[in-house]
Amino acid sequence: MTFDYEQLTETIAAHAATHAPDVDRGVFPGETLQAMRAAGMLGLVSAKDVGGQGLGLGAAAFVVERLARECGSTAMVVCMHYCAAAVIEQHGPATIRAAIAAGRHLSTLAFSELGSRSQFWAPVGIATQTSGTTVRLTARKSWVTSARHADSYVWSSKPIAGGETSSLWLVPRDTTGLRIADDLFDGIGLRGNDSCPITAEDAAIPESARLGADGAGFGIMMGTVLPWFNVLSTAVSAGLMEAATTKTAAHAAGTRFEHAGSTIADLPTVRAYIARMRIATDQTKTLLADTITAITTSRPDTMLRVLESKAAAGESAAQVTDLAMRVCGGAAFRKEVGVERIFRDSRAALVMGPTTDVLYDFIGKAVCGLPLF
Ligand SMILES: Cc1cc2nc3c(=O)[nH]c(=O)nc-3n(C[C@H](O)[C@H](O)[C@H](O)COP(=O)(O)OP(=O)(O)OC[C@H]3O[C@@H](n4cnc5c(N)ncnc54)[C@H](O)[C@@H]3O)c2cc1C
Repeated sequence: MTFDYEQLTETIAAHAATHAPDVDRGVFPGETLQAMRAAGMLGLVSAKDVGGQGLGLGAAAFVVERLARECGSTAMVVCMHYCAAAVIEQHGPATIRAAIAAGRHLSTLAFSELGSRSQFWAPVGIATQTSGTTVRLTARKSWVTSARHADSYVWSSKPIAGGETSSLWLVPRDTTGLRIADDLFDGIGLRGNDSCPITAEDAAIPESARLGADGAGFGIMMGTVLPWFNVLSTAVSAGLMEAATTKTAAHAAGTRFEHAGSTIADLPTVRAYIARMRIATDQTKTLLADTITAITTSRPDTMLRVLESKAAAGESAAQVTDLAMRVCGGAAFRKEVGVERIFRDSRAALVMGPTTDVLYDFIGKAVCGLPLF
């Protein structure tokens, strides 16, 4: 039987739409993930030789964009899983790769820390090896999406050997010495994400849990995580913008001023706002597609596109959803039109690392021929 991920995505998106109101109240999107698991969609980017679907970043972006139209939280959980899976595919053990391929294993990224904050490339958490093959992790991770639900975390630390770079580890959730914050995640948006702090105090893992060589974390972050995360974050923003634009146009066309016998869409100001929303949404989708093309064809401008896409999409999503709130009026301020959740969810892209302002700095440096770091 052929694996039609586009068709399956429609089914999964219907699950995400059904559960979106509960997820916005803070419920982790477990039912939708279960549907993805059953359909083989959690193993989308896993290689065929371990039982996965063998698809790449383009397919992952398709799924994430479509999910984001229905539920931003679900899309972000899946975004983080695919990013972690891409790293584990390259550097992880065959057993975990096979578990991800079979949909039995959910993973995520644990990069951000209380100390290095959004500057994830410079972890201050440490990994020490005092004797034998056991490594002990000590860190204060500030945000981990799916914290209580993921089976493992792709975890950053300073290298065992010290120095300015980083190492990555595959850390099981049930590792002794890990403490996931008790409070439920209570953010302004992406409220079903379960994005909680995790503390590690001498958490013991085997040395073999390292992903890549000691000190190779920075290279993996820049070579794998950055393109995957920026593209999939762009896909989340694109999906949110598509939903906001579509819902706003439908509300404007279908809502009447009875005394005047006209609709909101009959107002030229409103039509101009909606036109700007449509243009920005289509620009984001075009940039998303071009960035994926640049990556898959190893185009010389790939790094610039990777940096640009998340910055542009995050900024555009904030502007488009702001317009959605304005055009849909008081009806949007309540939950009648369904754009206020999208407005709140869209805010995360601006501050998720690499943040928009960090990206502006990197892009400026790249364009001026300066080193990024
Ligand atoms: C919903 C959500 C889910 C998340 N999930 C995860 C996850 O699964 N894994 C994970 O590792 N992290 C995750 N994060 C964390 C995220 O990636 C950032 O690390 C976090 O949002 C940064 O918050 P902060 O308060 O530490 O920001 P700070 O680093 O304190 O930033 C404050 C301000 O300073 C600016 N700034 C910082 N450095 C620079 C610079 N060099 N140039 C210009 N401006 C700069 C920032 O842009 C920001 O405006 C998540 C965040 C959110 C909101």
